[in-house]
Amino acid sequence: MDSSTNGSYPADSSPITFASLNLRQEILNNLKRIGYHVPSPIQAAFIPEALKGIDVIGQAQTGTGKTAAFLLPVLERINPDDRFPQVLILGPTRELVAQVYEEGKKLVGDLGFQMACIYGGEGFDRQIRELRAGAQIIVGTPGRIIDMIRRQHLQIKKLRVVILDEADRMLDIGFRPDIERILKQTPTDRQTLLLSATMPAEVLGLTNRYMMNPAMVDLSSKDLNVDRIDQRSFRVDEDRKLKLLMRLLVREKPRQCLIFCQMKSRVRWLADELGKRIRGVMAMQGDMPQNKRSRVMKAYREGEIRLLVATDVVGRGIDVEGISHVINFDIPDDPDAYVHRIGRTGRMGKDGLAFTFVTPNQSDLLTAIEKHMNKMIEADSIEGFIACYGRKTSSPPVGRGRPGGGSRRPGGPRKPGGAKRPRNAGKRPRASSSGSRGR
Ligand code: AMP
Repeated sequence: MDSSTNGSYPADSSPITFASLNLRQEILNNLKRIGYHVPSPIQAAFIPEALKGIDVIGQAQTGTGKTAAFLLPVLERINPDDRFPQVLILGPTRELVAQVYEEGKKLVGDLGFQMACIYGGEGFDRQIRELRAGAQIIVGTPGRIIDMIRRQHLQIKKLRVVILDEADRMLDIGFRPDIERILKQTPTDRQTLLLSATMPAEVLGLTNRYMMNPAMVDLSSKDLNVDRIDQRSFRVDEDRKLKLLMRLLVREKPRQCLIFCQMKSRVRWLADELGKRIRGVMAMQGDMPQNKRSRVMKAYREGEIRLLVATDVVGRGIDVEGISHVINFDIPDDPDAYVHRIGRTGRMGKDGLAFTFVTPNQSDLLTAIEKHMNKMIEADSIEGFIACYGRKTSSPPVGRGRPGGGSRRPGGPRKPGGAKRPRNAGKRPRASSSGSRGR
């Protein structure tokens, strides 16, 4: 986030100042320089606990300032004169790790700490150079960290702090054995900080095994930044999604838009189709080589790309200030993934817009999301465009043309509710599938 323009976290969100959190003057000066004037709620709650040196669990979404929440107290507790790894931050994806690294460099400023960013899919040379230069703060994905330890480029026996960022996501990706292997090699008197958006049993299992009487800071519901995001859904036939997307883009004219698909093949297909029709479209999915992913991210950050089509794995790590719209071309089957996706807009208290395409047989998924957020998602429609004839398809099409191709409902097309109303004309009638949703 460009802190010079973000104006910091909304002042009414926290009466606490950074100075009252007992951070030393150099850190306070640096925060002022980078434009962080007020701590975000997770920072206000997490920093005092972590400064005690005890283990802390923080439950918070990305985009709420959690990186600074765990890094600032750590900067108080380590010594720039000790030229060996003192802090290890583990994250689930390359993008997230790179983001934490960038945020870390900002927060470190001229405090004299060296950082190393260690992830797979890229050559070893730069990473080894950073480690050899005496990095004290290591940020990395578990697989490559293990590789570096095995090749004896990284020593973790004297670590003072271990941070597990997005722990739930790391476990989703199957990093548990790697995390355990790493933790077993670290000193038992280390401080362990764990950040997670959700607390499934597997994360709790980790906390029981690897943390000592952890303090719990739970801002998961308070900090769900979804409240600031205007969320809409479209009931749409699978084979009308692309047309709907085009119409929506014309209506919304997004400054920058992130479009999510469920599968890599869908991402490729959709980016291809959009690319034939509009300029400034790129795809981002896990199969792309790291250097290409980095190039795409850079172009997106710099605003050269207006539309980015992505899968969850890469989309989750994206923190780009200018994202005005998130579109779920495919609705996610996990409500947490929905919250993470739409959290790419509305960063740090800003407003954002999120649209979700729901096919006739996906109403249950929408209901589950609404229940999870305890919030209804308004049904939307595009004037003069029929998105849904009520065709049911068992699986999303990946090819060209008009896949699915179920027959039209007898009696002609369903009239989309509220089609004549302008977008901001107040409450829109809900799609028919939503009437019985419980809260
Ligand atoms: P994170 O949740 O750590 O990904 O942070 C989201 C964005 O908010 C990042 O771009 C940070 O640079 C920015 N940020 C974090 N804390 C603050 C703060 N106290 N004031 C202003 N911006 C912040």
